Amino acid sequence: MKIEFFRHNIGDIEKSKVCQTLDSIFLTTGDVVYEFERQLSDFVGSDYAIGLMSCTAALHLSLLAYGIAPGDEVITTPMTFVATATAIMHTGAKPVFVDVEPETGNINADLIEAAVTDKTKAILPVHLYGNMCDMRRIREIADKYSLIVIEDSAHTIEANRDGYGIGELSDAACFSFYATKSITSGEGGAVSLNNKEKAELIKQLSLHGITKGAADRYTKKYKHWDMDLLGWKYNMSNIQASLLLNQLNNADKYWQRRDEISKRYEDAFSKLNGINYPKVPDQSKSGRHLFTVWVDPMNRDETLWSLQEKGIGVAVNYRAIHLLSYFRENFGFRKGAFPIAENIGESTISIPLYPALTDIEVDYIINSVIEAVS
Ligand SMILES: *Cc1c(COP(=O)(O)O)cnc(C)c1O
Repeated sequence: MKIEFFRHNIGDIEKSKVCQTLDSIFLTTGDVVYEFERQLSDFVGSDYAIGLMSCTAALHLSLLAYGIAPGDEVITTPMTFVATATAIMHTGAKPVFVDVEPETGNINADLIEAAVTDKTKAILPVHLYGNMCDMRRIREIADKYSLIVIEDSAHTIEANRDGYGIGELSDAACFSFYATKSITSGEGGAVSLNNKEKAELIKQLSLHGITKGAADRYTKKYKHWDMDLLGWKYNMSNIQASLLLNQLNNADKYWQRRDEISKRYEDAFSKLNGINYPKVPDQSKSGRHLFTVWVDPMNRDETLWSLQEKGIGVAVNYRAIHLLSYFRENFGFRKGAFPIAENIGESTISIPLYPALTDIEVDYIINSVIEAVS
């Protein structure tokens, strides 16, 4: 059997929407993007959403819009994709890592206060695998020290916890539509927020810092535009938005299937010694973006390879990022700095999780994992 690590859900409806856009004159940011932004803000319950080129861009611009600048510190997790930290570094600020919870791999809110200094300006939690961080605690700490909270929600638009959804307890939430994300346009991202002034600023920063987008210039009576801010080129195109609209419509249906598969994995693996997996926090709905198993670090790579040999696509999400060369060399991190994150990073194996998986494939994956660890 050959089971890809990931298969996207792009089908005839998405393709015909893309063709419709290609047949129109307007390929860059325009009506299709605006439609997607409205639907995304409805979905997550925010006042505003802005389509961008990537989640990295969304994180970068959110941090900038809230004034994060050189010399500042931003508290985040080492158990994430590098983009979380590089977005901080692109503002000139320093990422300050704190260790994670052993049960979830999410930032350990109990450790955040000890990392706050007079340079700390923001907290950047990551909802790893789609399991939501303890946003109530994080908001409390942020309020106590007057910090901004930006969510790296690249792994979920669907999650909630303690009655709060993504973006409800933060200043902005950032999403990814990268090729292996649950909803994808190959490359793409977005930010949701409830602050009109910051939303307008992010929009402007996403397009060079100029005062009018191409759609406005094209559809309205010609007016000269100005550039009064130094911006970036991060805007989403109508082609990307055409791929995303129908997937967003089906997000709940896709989530249902990922949840069903995740529960089958959990049932099968809960009975096994030598294998563990992240716990969905109480009072929460997980976005169910990735399913990772945690095995003995001594056997992790062999388990990975043996699953590959059985034709199963696997990934590692993630090795703790403070131990990657750049972070070691520029921040002086050594092994032992964040032992829980390091241990998860050495134990973790992501196995396939997407709606197109058949029950037969899921059974094959379960049996292969069981064989590989026993
Ligand atoms: C994928 C991912 C990103 C980056 O998303 P892009 O859209 O590729 O920029 C950031 N953080 C996490 C946790 C991710 O998984």
